[in-house]
This record gives sequence, C-alpha cells and structure tokens, in this order.
Amino acid sequence: MKSKKIFILGMARSGYAAAKLLAKDNQVIITDQKEQEASLVEELKNMGVEVVITQDPCSLLNETYDYMIKNPGIKYNHPAVEKARELNIKVINEMEVAYFYLNKKAKVIGITGSNGKTTTTTLIYNMLKKEHKNTFLGGNIGIPFSQFVLDVKEGDYVVLEISDHQLCDMDEFKTNISVLTNIYPVHLDFHDSFERYKKTKKKIFAHHTSTELAIINQDNEEAMNLTRDIPSKKEFFSKEKKTDAYLKDNAIYYRDEKVIECKEILLQGEHNYENIMAAILAVKECGVSNRTIKSVLKTFKGVEHRLEYVTTINKVEYYNDSKATNTESTKIALKSFEKDTYLLLGGLDRGHSFEDLTPCMNHVVYVACYGETKNRIKEYCSKLNIVCEVFETLKEATQSCMEKARENSVVLLSPACASWDQYACFEDRGDEFKRVVLEGKHHEL
Ligand code: ADP
Repeated sequence: MKSKKIFILGMARSGYAAAKLLAKDNQVIITDQKEQEASLVEELKNMGVEVVITQDPCSLLNETYDYMIKNPGIKYNHPAVEKARELNIKVINEMEVAYFYLNKKAKVIGITGSNGKTTTTTLIYNMLKKEHKNTFLGGNIGIPFSQFVLDVKEGDYVVLEISDHQLCDMDEFKTNISVLTNIYPVHLDFHDSFERYKKTKKKIFAHHTSTELAIINQDNEEAMNLTRDIPSKKEFFSKEKKTDAYLKDNAIYYRDEKVIECKEILLQGEHNYENIMAAILAVKECGVSNRTIKSVLKTFKGVEHRLEYVTTINKVEYYNDSKATNTESTKIALKSFEKDTYLLLGGLDRGHSFEDLTPCMNHVVYVACYGETKNRIKEYCSKLNIVCEVFETLKEATQSCMEKARENSVVLLSPACASWDQYACFEDRGDEFKRVVLEGKHHEL
C-alpha cells in the first residue's frame, strides 16, 4: 500500500502492528477509546502516525480516507464502520493489510473453526517448524501477522489461526491450505445469525482453485454442507469412517499408513484426535515425515490452559483446563478421562446451571469448589451425592485435592465459570493452579 490515507479503528496489538507496517508509505491515523501505553504511542508518533484517543471516532472520519482498518472485536454495525461504508471507504482488517505485503511465493496455512483453532494451529506449527526452520506462527493466536510479514520469504511457511471476526473483513486474502475444524452455533451475538456466521467461516476458502487444499471435518455436518460447492482440492478427517485421516483400532491413520497409536499421544481427549488429524493432513501436504509428526505428538502437552498436562505426583496426574469458562468446555474435559477425578469448580456467577455436567460426572469422586459460585456448586453436588467441600480460594481448593487424591487418579481444574470474580483472566487462574501444584510437588521431593 502506498500513498493512501488510512484510518485505523482500535489500537490493541493488531492495530499497533498494522500502523507500524503502513506508516512508512502512507498517511495513518489510529484511534482508540482507551488510553494506550505511552511508550507505544510515542513510538507511533515518531513514525509519523497520528494517535487520537476519543469516544467519537466518527467525527474524525471523512471521504478523504481510502481505507479503514477495523479491529476484529468491533462489530460490523459500529457507527464508525457504518459511516466508513457510507463514505465508500474500504473496510478491511490487519490480516488483510499484512497479506498485501506478503511475499506471495510463501505458503500460507489458515486454520479456522468454532473449536480447536489454537490447538490445531499450534500442532501444525510445531510439526512444520521441525522440518522447515523458516516457519512463522501468527494471527488470532496473539501474534499479529503484520508484525512479521516482512520477514517472510519465498518458500517459507506461515501458519495463521484465523477467527470468524477476522474473516469478516478479509477480501484478497488467500491460503494455500485451509483447515476448517468444525462449525457450531457460537458467537451468534457478534454475527446476528448462524447463517451469517457460516458464510463468514466459508471465506477461509476464498479464491481457492483445485490447486489449493481444503481440510474438512467429515463428522461435522455443518462443515460438510458448507463446503459442498467449494472448488478446492478436499481432504477429510474422521473419527468414524475411513477417509484421508481417520481413527481406527485406537490408532491414527493417514490413508493406509498408521501414523501413531493413541496411547503414545500425550494430548488428552477425543476432541483432540480431530485436531491432530487435521494437523496431520496439513503437514503431510508440506512433506513432513511421520517420524516428525510422531515426535511432536509424543511430547506436545497441549496449549497452555486447555487441558494442559501439568505434572504427576505420587501417581496422580494434574491437568489445567482454566480456559473452560462454561459447562460445555468442562464436559469435554470430563469426557477426556476415565480415572477417578478430583474436580476443581468455581468462579464468576452468571447464574448459569451446572446440571449440564451431570452425564459426565460419573467418575468424579470429589469436588473442591471456590469463588462466587461455590455455594451453588455445593448444592448441585449434594444432589448427585458427590463429596464436595467449599473453599474461599482456588489455592485452598487445590491443596485439598492434593491431600485427598489417591493413586491412579486425576486432579482437574476445569472450572465451568469465568475467572473474573477473583482473577484478571483465565490465564492468571491457570498459572496460580500450576504454581500451587508444582510447589506441592517440590515439598514432596
Ligand atoms: P479455539 O482456539 O477454537 O478456542 P482451542 O484449541 O483453544 O480452540 O480449544 C479450546 C477449547 O475448545 C478446548 O479446551 C476444548 O474444550 C474445546 N475443543 C478443542 N478442540 C475441539 C474440537 N476439535 N472439537 C470440540 N471442542 C474442542
């Protein structure tokens, strides 16, 4: 992009990265409603970027702008976005900007879906990186594409997690390989309808011809229906039927090759087999060997805070699933274990019910609850006849599980509540759990 007038709506990490990328050759203004870190503002100003903190970005907009770069968290009907469209200003996002600057001889792998994006993206990156040093990781995973796009050279690989929010404002963006993990009716508050959400997800295959690869979950009806008419070369994965990658006799196969036995995989949970199969299809297309794939799967402990294996103490395994902020996610976690489970539940009270967990609670032998929801969890457990103790803090609850857990069992933090009653974010909560567990381990030694 050259000599354009650009309006960046929303700073955050991605707006900042886009501003830096664009500043050299364009006239850039960036607005946000919140005060931003002084050193970053200073840096942008020194590059010639105008930084404006305002509650009313609309008043700064006029027809002289060529592009609006919208932060993915801002809705399509935000007044400033609507005004930009009225003024015929093209609305795009930071990933689309980065794509413009990308060396088109690099290979782009894009991963989207309702669930499993981060895990699949990380697996693909780890596998590729072992064989191709010049592999880059970015997108929704927390590293803006704009931050590293100028370092990407011909033949390099770029692995990008792409959310539906990001797909909304992408136009020219095209991948060489796209993965659609699954589609469920989520984020409907943002998209207003399931139809609109699905249409957005389909953009991950935009501009594909029969030379680009689409990797699709064959067991997910919505994903199958949505992709019926795309022109891409398609490959499928399934837990149920033989296809390009599939699960058979407790092993994962790629066509007729057995890639790995499930028992050799460190990641827990059936849902992760889907993520693994999707990753295998993507990296096989890039020529990665079974040996490399296996070595990653034997050592990859999961993305932090998502059913992350922490440690084993006295034959008790500890898992951190702090990302589970609702009962749906906690159900998935509970289904991932058969051993006796000591479960940590609790957090912000949104008035939600815990009843949904019931079909998955059979192997739960003890619940330690804490946080705002503690008393309601106690009531729920007494209905199920599960021993439950109430604590003020996660630390006390964790210590109690550590004292009580018997050999060959699991201690699981999968709280089914948001963390904001006691923590700034679920990451802080997961970190505290791990700290308490590892300190306990240290005392044991
Ligand atoms: P995302 O990036 O799409 O949020 P993550 O890989 O971070 O996905 O996983 C978040 C949570 O989503 C996991 O803790 C698990 O509860 C659930 N999950 C992950 N993969 C899948 C899958 N393939 N199918 C269904 N649920 C999944």
